[in-house]
Amino acid sequence: NLTYRYALVNEALASSFLPVRALDSNKHDHGYLLLIAGSRDYIGAAVMASEGAKRSGVGYVCVASVDEVCRMVASKSPECVFLRLDENENGRMDLLSFGRLQKAMERATAICIGPGLGIDDDTRALFASVLENAKCPVIIDADGINILSENINVLDSVTVPVVLTPHIGEMARLLAVDSQSILNDRYELVGNFAKRYGVTVVCKGYRTFTAPAAMGAYMNTTGNAGLAKAGSGDLLSGIIGALLAQGLAPEKAASAGVYYHGKAADLCQAELGQMYMQPMDVAHYLSKAYPKL
Ligand code: AMP
Ligand code: MG
Repeated sequence: NLTYRYALVNEALASSFLPVRALDSNKHDHGYLLLIAGSRDYIGAAVMASEGAKRSGVGYVCVASVDEVCRMVASKSPECVFLRLDENENGRMDLLSFGRLQKAMERATAICIGPGLGIDDDTRALFASVLENAKCPVIIDADGINILSENINVLDSVTVPVVLTPHIGEMARLLAVDSQSILNDRYELVGNFAKRYGVTVVCKGYRTFTAPAAMGAYMNTTGNAGLAKAGSGDLLSGIIGALLAQGLAPEKAASAGVYYHGKAADLCQAELGQMYMQPMDVAHYLSKAYPKL
């Protein structure tokens, strides 16, 4: 089908998308990622996303979450800065803290929202306010996607670039169809959805497929079943968020992020094996995956 031609992403293409670091640059030149993630029961999602982000070149990673999540991320990633939000009775972020979030949103060059967020009325309201007030590109993952699926038409009033990173189950929820029909007709369904809502969609799984709002699409060539473990997707959303924060166009941040996440997993598999490898190991192999300058 000529309408859904895609480019295979290889090293040459992915590396051509990466940001350049000027000799005399400082941290303010490399973007500010606001990561809104985690809740009492999903602490690790924020840990994984912040790890992916901080290993992907961004100048600042600011983690907005409840106290326990901030503490855990700080112990693993002392490089991050934090916005400690009030916690509601479910251990999730309370909307009352939104005023403080607003300040960080002014500063952010990209926002990543969703990993481990949980879903209740507070997180729904938080999510809606972030989409409404964002002035920079936003990547929406995990529970962010699940909240979005409840009312997909809010995308029609969003003016900033949006990247969605659903796995097949989340994609099915977004489209309100079952997973099997997506597997049968992935390019057409995902491509049409991306164009209809004007967003970049990263449909994850074996051979992750990225469909931008405009024409063209990207098929990934890296990654392996060692990634089929909880935490892999959170790592990816941090990586893409960091690339977005450095000013990459949404489809470039997305397809390059997917490529290097998969490449790191392939290098990791070669030494640790698919059984043993963990998303945090994959994060460490980003060191061998990204080009050296
Ligand atoms: P999530 O389901 O949100 O944790 O995301 C899983 C991540 O692992 C995505 O980036 C997938 O593309 C990747 N992944 C899962 N299974 C495979 C597989 N069999 N081959 C390649 N990548 C995979
Ligand atoms: Mg996920």
